[in-house]
Amino acid sequence: MSIQIQQNKCTGCGQCIEACPGNLIKRGEGGKAWIRHIRDCWGCTSCLKECRFGAICFYLGADIGGRGSTLTVRKEGDVNIWSITDREGRLQQIRVDQKKANQY
Ligand code: SF4
Ligand code: SF4
Repeated sequence: MSIQIQQNKCTGCGQCIEACPGNLIKRGEGGKAWIRHIRDCWGCTSCLKECRFGAICFYLGADIGGRGSTLTVRKEGDVNIWSITDREGRLQQIRVDQKKANQY
């Protein structure tokens, strides 16, 4: 499992760099974020949740049954909207209200 940072969407805001507990994300040329040792990512998703520009997606590989799907998240107020897109482009969404997170 690993993240992918889409350089065309990254603004270089640095939020993911601050959020990564493993200090895995760095600022590269042009100030954009990139991940140094992709195999060290343990998939905590902190960086996804911090990126307000939708520049980070999480690759759901065969090791976790994802068959190459990708996961992204965006915020609407207190709600995190998790979107899973499979290789055929089909989309599934899960909405998690953070104020009610203890009910899940
Ligand atoms: S949080 Fe998103 S936009 Fe900001 S540096 Fe990281 S990938 Fe780029
Ligand atoms: S998913 Fe977690 S460990 Fe992996 S790069 Fe993002 S913040 Fe770091």
